[in-house]
Order: sequence, then C-alpha cells, then structure tokens
Amino acid sequence: MLNQLIAKSLPIVPKAIVRQVSNRYIAGETIQEAVQTVQKLNKAGAVGTIDVLGEFVSSRTQAEQETQMSSNVLEAINQHDLKSGLSVKLTSLGLDIDDEFCYNNVRKIVARAQEIKRFVRLDMENSPYTTKTIDIYHRLNSEGLTNTGVVIQAYMRRSEDDIRSLAKTGTSVRLCKGIYIEPEEIAFRGREEVQENYKRLLRLLFDHNMYVGIATHDDILLDFAQEEIAKRGIKSDRYEFQMLLGVREQKRDALIKAGHKMRIYVPFGHDWYGYSVRRLKENPEVAGHIFKAMFTGGR
Ligand SMILES: Cc1cc2nc3c(=O)[nH]c(=O)nc-3n(C[C@H](O)[C@H](O)[C@H](O)COP(=O)(O)OP(=O)(O)OC[C@H]3O[C@@H](n4cnc5c(N)ncnc54)[C@H](O)[C@@H]3O)c2cc1C
Repeated sequence: MLNQLIAKSLPIVPKAIVRQVSNRYIAGETIQEAVQTVQKLNKAGAVGTIDVLGEFVSSRTQAEQETQMSSNVLEAINQHDLKSGLSVKLTSLGLDIDDEFCYNNVRKIVARAQEIKRFVRLDMENSPYTTKTIDIYHRLNSEGLTNTGVVIQAYMRRSEDDIRSLAKTGTSVRLCKGIYIEPEEIAFRGREEVQENYKRLLRLLFDHNMYVGIATHDDILLDFAQEEIAKRGIKSDRYEFQMLLGVREQKRDALIKAGHKMRIYVPFGHDWYGYSVRRLKENPEVAGHIFKAMFTGGR
C-alpha cells in the first residue's frame, strides 16, 4: 500500500531525491560513463544495449542532436570494442515532427551500425507510435538494413497479429510486458492477463523460430521461458535474456552462470528524469528507498 502511494506521489518528490535513488538504473550522464558500465558488464559475462535518454522531442534541432549522440555512441562502441548494441526511441529522433525526417535520422544510425557490425533495437513507445515504428522497421529491412529489430509489448491486444506479420521477415523481437498506460480496449491491464499473454507470445515467437530477447525480471516468466527453452531444445543462437541496468542483479548473474546469453539495457544522458520515475514506480521497495534518501539527505 505504502509503496503504491509513494509511487503515485513521485511527481512531488524533489528531483534531487529521485536522482539519488535512481542512480542504480542509470549509467551516468556522459558517454564515458556508459562505456565504463558496459565494460564492467562485459567482464561479468553480459552484453549491453546502450540508450541515450530522451523521448518526445519536438524540435528538429533537438532530434538532430539526439541522432548525433546515438552516432557518437556507436563510434565509442566501435573504438572500445564493446560487446554492445544500441537502443533508440523514434520520438527522440523526430517521429512527432515528420515521418520522413525521422526515417532519415534512424536510417543514418542503422547504416553506420551495420558498417561496424552492431545491432540497433527500435524501442517501442506508447500506442500512437506502434504502427509507425513497425513500418519504419519494415522499410529499413527492405533497404537491406537487417541489423535492426522491434519490441513487442505483451500488454497490447494487437501483439499476436504483429508477431504473425513480423514472422514473414524473420524479425528479431524483444518481448516485454510494456511500460506505458494504455486504454483497456487496446491493452490487457491485469497482472495475470499480461503474464498469460506474454507466455502465449513467447510460444508463438519460438514456433516461428524468430530470435527473441526475453526482456523481463518476473520470476514466473523467467521460469516459463527456461522451461520452454529446455523442452523445445532452443539453441542459444535463437534467444537471449534481457534486463534493465540495476534491476535484479543476482538473478541476472544466476542466468549468466546457467549459460544463457544476457543483455543489459544501459541508459545514460542528461534527460534522466522520465526514465527514472518509470523505474521507481516498478520498484516494489520504492517507499523504503525514498524514505532512506530523504532522511540521509542523499548521502
Ligand atoms: C531490456 C528491457 C527493455 C525494455 N524495453 C521496453 C520497451 O521498448 N518498451 C516498453 O514499453 N517497455 C520496455 N521495457 C519495460 C517492460 O515493459 C516492463 O515495464 C519492465 O520490464 C517491468 O516488467 P517485468 O516483466 O520485469 O515485471 P515486473 O512485474 O514489473 O517485475 C518483476 C519483478 O522484478 C523486480 N523489479 C522490476 N522492476 C524493478 C525495479 N525498477 N527496481 C527493482 N526491482 C524491480 C521486482 O522484484 C518485481 O517483482 C523493457 C524492459 C527490459 C527488461
């Protein structure tokens, strides 16, 4: 109860406190810090996907800056020979401004990533962008830029149809529950409903032999995925587990130890607030962390 109350009150929690308790979810504000975080993860047996924090950009200049930042990240990945790809949010590259402008920005990034043999994941945002994001994926793919893939959200009722159509191009899919608040007509809302749909979609992805990033920290789904992998004899080049930086690190290490490929989502940048609030809302111990930070003054 208290945790839910605190999660709802996060908008009035001082930014300095939010910053302090969300430190564990963010690599830092600079590329240098993101590089160091991925180097540590690589040493621990995980691979990365780096995300420049930022979304819902409304000016062309800002979208161009975001594009440049992602391009700089690719150069850093190449220079430091990191085992890491890149994740991008299309609204940060101009999807709210103009479709063609956004396409050219993301194309530039994916083309450079292809040259240095890295993968670019198109993160999935809220429902107004689902079809546009999938369309952009198809367009990139049709131009021979096959080093990219999409995200399917298990809470969306349309996801089963999306997987069936994506199966035709053998798409690499990250499967997650979904983080945005969507209306009931288009999205499952109950925890168990979402879990059941996640299981259904994972089976479907395996049925179609698609490459799956199993992105969850939920024990029920992690156990289910491991059982399916074992039962079906899914080869290690057809799937990976994915987790967010700073979440369930013991579980992460146990999965690596059990021989599974593990990719960690590594966000960094100045625009840390929106992402941090989303993560804190999902943390079942948010109340304890916030109180501790308030009483220790962030020390
Ligand atoms: C790699 C990756 C990429 C993602 N990309 C997208 C995307 O593109 N679009 C999108 O809509 N969503 C994305 N998500 C978010 C996802 O949709 C969920 O919101 C998020 O993963 C929480 O769902 P869960 O499956 O982990 O289950 P939950 O039920 O939320 O969590 C299961 C358990 O994990 C632990 N836990 C979860 N979150 C936290 C936390 N913040 N702090 C501490 N403990 C925690 C708790 O023990 C909790 O009981 C991504 C998630 C991951 C892992």
